[in-house]
Amino acid sequence: MTALLINRKNYFAGAWQTSDSGRTFGVLNPATGGLIGEVPDCSEAETNRAIRSAQLALPAWRAMAADERSRKLKKFNQLIIENRKELSQILTTEQGKPLAEAEREILYAASFVEWFAEEARRVYGRTVPGPTPERRIIVTKQALGVCAAITPWNFPCAMITRKLAAALAAGCTMIVKPAPETPFSALALAELALRAEIPPSVFQVITGDAEKIASALMSSTSVRKLSFTGSTEVGKILIRQSAQTVKRLTVELGGNAPFIVFEDADIGKAVKGAMFAKYRNAGQTCVCVNRFIVHESRVEEFAAGLCSASSALKVGNGLDSGVEVGPLISIEAADKVRALIEDALSNGAKRLSGENISAIGPCFIHPTILSGVNKSMRLWNEEIFGPLCAISSFKTEEQALELANDTEYGLASYFYTKDLSRAFRVAEALESGCVAVNDTVFAFPQGPFGGMKQSGYGKEGGQEGIEEYLTTKYVMMAV
Ligand code: NAP
Repeated sequence: MTALLINRKNYFAGAWQTSDSGRTFGVLNPATGGLIGEVPDCSEAETNRAIRSAQLALPAWRAMAADERSRKLKKFNQLIIENRKELSQILTTEQGKPLAEAEREILYAASFVEWFAEEARRVYGRTVPGPTPERRIIVTKQALGVCAAITPWNFPCAMITRKLAAALAAGCTMIVKPAPETPFSALALAELALRAEIPPSVFQVITGDAEKIASALMSSTSVRKLSFTGSTEVGKILIRQSAQTVKRLTVELGGNAPFIVFEDADIGKAVKGAMFAKYRNAGQTCVCVNRFIVHESRVEEFAAGLCSASSALKVGNGLDSGVEVGPLISIEAADKVRALIEDALSNGAKRLSGENISAIGPCFIHPTILSGVNKSMRLWNEEIFGPLCAISSFKTEEQALELANDTEYGLASYFYTKDLSRAFRVAEALESGCVAVNDTVFAFPQGPFGGMKQSGYGKEGGQEGIEEYLTTKYVMMAV
């Protein structure tokens, strides 16, 4: 692994530091099982120092001209792009996704920094005619204050920058606790932010005990907001904890995305879209398709197309050339997918292709396609998070919608049709925060990404993204 951006210390309270106890934890390469390195195992005390530091750094950062903050973010964006090769190496080594995909994530991560650098200059208020001649109502937007982020391992860079860049653009300071599987990407971003002359303590990174770090963040009255991306289970804990200080939250949680193929769909395009929406990051994204719901008249054709395209995918170590599907993040994650396959098979699903056990290593699962899937199976209700396609069928549009919305989640949905009226009708009826029609890509900073139902609340990206880090002040001015 390249060394320039590899940091084995945390960046907080103005310096690169170890944990108070000197304890560390190891980070493994999921493709080989080998140890990449150790990072500090921090806890409440270090987090509290980071919070104090973020509080001290806040006034100058918040008061800085938006143009100046924007310039620093643009420099940060430029440095991420310039260092994309090294960042991709770090990302693939700790996360497993193929190198080309890692590089796309780095560019995606940078795109949020660029977007919010621009948004920093467009934080508009308004004046409203007063109710009496001497009164003026002024509406202003102000930075919320010290913010925190807790992020998952599946997008080690992009899940950070889409929170961080919005917070910094708004004039907030931010402390990030990255996932323990992928801390080196977060620490590399901290190094690049410093090189971009973003002042010390405006962006800090703490690795270590999630519950203890979260406890310090959630009980602090100085931390005004937490943005969390991760499982619904942990999201619910944090929602409860936020009540103690009435903290603002953005919670991007789990998904269970349906992918509907209507009878009038272009099957070639639907298969191409499915390949991206299913196998990106080996199926480990919150917007990956969980359930394919295909019209009974086209299900065989769609399944055949998917089988043929899936069997051509190259599975292996993400650092090897041409690999398209890397390992899952851990043996436990791979075992969970294997258990979902077994459960579906024992409840009547049919395996069309794929193998559970890979000769490459215990974290690998070959693209697997099951047909005849139904509601009785675990994979109908649980997030698969692996390269497993689960196909069911339907007769009517009404039935397709009922099946698609039959989940507690509401993050992403996809459907393919050539009927314009149906496109509007179904897009409006699907219970999810993001809907793609004849497409499967949401990864753009321009769009307000986020869920409904138990996939969470709050938006990241788009015009809405910066609002999450701003508070609206109403000034009644008598003249
Ligand atoms: P996770 O177990 O919820 O972990 C996410 C983060 O929360 C990690 O940093 C984790 O640290 C931390 N954490 C765990 N327990 C905590 C606690 N009690 N208090 C505070 N923090 C705690 O989720 P994951 O398995 O890493 O990530 C996969 C999940 O993220 C999936 O459900 C996926 O759908 C979701 N996701 C959602 C989006 C979205 O935008 N909606 C995007 C990507 C992923 P430790 O591991 O150290 O405990």
